[in-house]
Amino acid sequence: MHILEELPFQNTYRRLPDAFYSPVAPTPLADPYRISVNPDAAALIGLKPEQMQRPEFVDYFSGRRALPGSEPLAMCYSGHQFGHYVPRLGDGRAILLGEVHDPHTGKWDLHLKGAGLTPYSRQGDGRAVLRSTIREYLCSEAMHGLGIPTSRGLCIIGSDEEVHREKIETGAMLVRLAPSHVRFGSFEYFYYTHQFDHLRTLAEYVITQHYPWLAGAPEPSLALLNEVVARTARLIAQWQLVGFAHGVMNTDNMSILGITLDYGPFGFLEHYDPGFVCNHSDHHGRYAFDRQPDIGLFNLSCLAQAMLPLLSDIPEEAVAQAQAALALYQPALVEHYAQGMRAKLGLQQTLADDQKLVADLLEILAINQVDYTRFFRALAGFAHPSADANAALRDMFRDRTAFDTWADRYARRLDAEHSDAAERRPRMNRSNPKYILRNYLAEAAIRRAQEERDYAEIERLRQLLGKPYEEQAGMEHYAAEPPDWARHIEVSCSS
Ligand code: AMP
Ligand code: MG
Repeated sequence: MHILEELPFQNTYRRLPDAFYSPVAPTPLADPYRISVNPDAAALIGLKPEQMQRPEFVDYFSGRRALPGSEPLAMCYSGHQFGHYVPRLGDGRAILLGEVHDPHTGKWDLHLKGAGLTPYSRQGDGRAVLRSTIREYLCSEAMHGLGIPTSRGLCIIGSDEEVHREKIETGAMLVRLAPSHVRFGSFEYFYYTHQFDHLRTLAEYVITQHYPWLAGAPEPSLALLNEVVARTARLIAQWQLVGFAHGVMNTDNMSILGITLDYGPFGFLEHYDPGFVCNHSDHHGRYAFDRQPDIGLFNLSCLAQAMLPLLSDIPEEAVAQAQAALALYQPALVEHYAQGMRAKLGLQQTLADDQKLVADLLEILAINQVDYTRFFRALAGFAHPSADANAALRDMFRDRTAFDTWADRYARRLDAEHSDAAERRPRMNRSNPKYILRNYLAEAAIRRAQEERDYAEIERLRQLLGKPYEEQAGMEHYAAEPPDWARHIEVSCSS
């Protein structure tokens, strides 16, 4: 375990050529204070929990003092935003302080979001508002609790410094941890600027640092692409299974490690609505919930295109390899999703009509506007043939007979594998979370923080959402459907 001043930094990204980043120090926040700290994330870098209570902790993570061993930089990348290529993006308001290497958990980027202007800030102010840092912090911990790969939240540091968005808010900094912040867009940047040597260096770097077992493959770059395809397919299947909509699936927000990255206007489905668009600024619904699997493929195609020069010197050969890699995506996603859905339904065998059973369920959930999370959680209590025992499930549907018809089929399907209710229930509860970060829960924590400087709700949610599959006595109301005031909370890119 370390004290703050002795974190074992090994800043490998900083050793890459100059073209990869710009050295830049954070711009301090005025009169910063601690809003929330996360001992679970601190443990990942071997930081003693009491270190987070030291005044220096706030200094180091608000840009007031340089953290010993850190070598801050802003990463350079580009990307496809809403389908259009933007040649130069980069960390516009985030700064990579450095990488801590932990012997047990590996390498962790310490990334300070809201750290002030960088050479990539474009029109922006380099800041993040408290509202969006709370949302990212809580959601990344919620995703981790759900078992979905993600960046993590170490802490939030607040300030009374004003930041102008649609209205005036206050600025804050989020320290997040991730094994890497390299994005699909990092590869696109070197491809579209024809810096193919750097492109190769980047691929080699990613392999050495994060996929060392691929280094010995006959074609390491192709092996890397295959691996990213597989991981992205799995990630997006996991999103679909828990009802998570990312909101801004631009290629600069897609991780080369297949982890959930860059939380903005995300949202969890409440009533099941496949066309759900969580981002108020996404007027055409490009990133609607049910489009995420297709967008994943589009994004991977952008990555594959950028990697063409690494695959073969013969263009036709490179394209054929890229296409073969991309062809792995759809079947992998469908397989993960089908497996995950069977687990949600408590099924252990694979039978021919399972896909239809799932599709028909989703259809009646959508028509009846049934809460997705609550339905699946309650499904563990399904009993048959006793219809009475299913009253709670049935009452979630306006059209009760639609449920009855489906329930008959489900009961027969359970019988087909001689499913035992007592054994099935706890197993289903491990696949169907009780608690998700509903917008109204995040909003309540945000309002208390903004209006009353009361941060207890952030901590309560952090702990609750860290164990979303457990019942957690006394917390049932956190699993409730949104109250009326919260049905129309709008979230947009301006964070
Ligand atoms: P996002 O889609 O939120 O990940 O942001 C897209 C790009 O805009 C990234 O390069 C960000 O660094 C940059 N950006 C977003 N907000 C700001 C801001 N307030 N100031 C400077 N750059 C920003
Ligand atoms: Mg981003």
